[in-house]
Amino acid sequence: MILAVSACLLGDACRYDGAAKPCARVAALAARHELVPVCPERAGGLPVPRPPAEIVERDPVRVADAAGSDVTAAFCAGARRSLEEALAAGCAGAVLKARSPSCGSGAVYDGTFAGALVPGWGVAAALFREAGLPVVDEDADFASLGW
Ligand code: SF4
Repeated sequence: MILAVSACLLGDACRYDGAAKPCARVAALAARHELVPVCPERAGGLPVPRPPAEIVERDPVRVADAAGSDVTAAFCAGARRSLEEALAAGCAGAVLKARSPSCGSGAVYDGTFAGALVPGWGVAAALFREAGLPVVDEDADFASLGW
């Protein structure tokens, strides 16, 4: 199987703070699957490092950074570009970084930059799901998914 994976989980230092978030159990998936790294925020043209951002409004989604700058266009463009990359590579699912405003699945920060979570999906994770790709985070039970 071919899986899209958040690049930061594979050791790419592409996070907002200039760090990576390597995850051994995600890296171990490479023994059984082809992993395709994606970073929607970088794909949207955002620099590394960059200010932290959160989803501050939904329907329609609006993303702002901690200084109040609207970065929605970059997040949406990066989500589209990452989905295109994943589909072009033949990905059948995605393992994306938990709680990220781009990659989060099932829970994201609430837009107050206070560390609180609310149910929801990152911009890219939501787009992947709309395209029919199952999306989980790095803590998922991969075996139960057959991954
Ligand atoms: Fe990692 Fe996704 Fe954030 Fe890129 S956008 S640094 S892949 S969580």
